[in-house]
Amino acid sequence: MSGLSDFTGYRLRVTTLTARVPAFAVCALLAAVTVAGCGSEAAPKKSEPLPSPKAKASGPPTLAPGPQGLAPVFKNGVRSEKVVALTFDADMTADQGKRAARGERFDNPELIRTLKQYKVPATVFMTGRWAEEYPAQAKAIGADPLFEVANHSYSHYAFTKDCYGLPTIAPKDMKADVERAFKAFEKAGVADAVPYFRFPGGCYDRTALRALAAGGVTAVQWDVVSGDAFATDADAVAADVLGGVRPGSVVVMHCTRSAAPATEKAIRTIVPELRKQGYRFVRVSELIGAAGPAAGPAR
Ligand SMILES: [Zn+2]
Repeated sequence: MSGLSDFTGYRLRVTTLTARVPAFAVCALLAAVTVAGCGSEAAPKKSEPLPSPKAKASGPPTLAPGPQGLAPVFKNGVRSEKVVALTFDADMTADQGKRAARGERFDNPELIRTLKQYKVPATVFMTGRWAEEYPAQAKAIGADPLFEVANHSYSHYAFTKDCYGLPTIAPKDMKADVERAFKAFEKAGVADAVPYFRFPGGCYDRTALRALAAGGVTAVQWDVVSGDAFATDADAVAADVLGGVRPGSVVVMHCTRSAAPATEKAIRTIVPELRKQGYRFVRVSELIGAAGPAAGPAR
């Protein structure tokens, strides 16, 4: 098999989730200027992480194909344990190179530093274009045991029409766009990107899920919108997250300074407060691994 299946050859675990087609507000704002997303993870028992090492031997868990063999969609983990996955979209649209050349920063090294300082495992949904612009940062994120790098497309074009003003990619080009992002990660030195894909703007439909079906990726949405896109009030972002998190939640945030300037500061509130409430931070892979056996019929 070619394409996505090559780099997502590690398929393990299995559940069937019903694909839904939600409309999200989050990336809407982003879309105007074009920002993307990142990720999160899962963790251990009681005392705070010690994040578990990224599963390399067996590969990260994925979900079984959805109905009619469509790419599976994951939105949140099981609700029985106080774990939460912070995900950070590293948005950069294919045609934003000129803006970057003029000094606009689509990266956010301070945010990554803070996550490390607080020892917060996280999943970064990176666009291929971002990895090309910031290869050293992409490599460092990929090499850090706290983080996992997942796919947010190469070009940050929408996979449906009418997705917050984003340019649209044709169905015939979707799989190749995702594959191109994985190749960009490899070129930057990210050795073990996980086979998870976040749709730009969170927009998808059956056509998009069908286009990605052969690739072996699990689409990852979210259940908590941070509202960090273009937000300048870190307290408001923190309040949105703290008000939305439930056990097993996936929070969508951004690691792009120009489009999400308050995120790093918000993290300094969100992390200690959720820990105080007994939450443990995990990467998306850990949530998917835990959800697998319980969330659907085993294969
Ligand atoms: Zn995005």
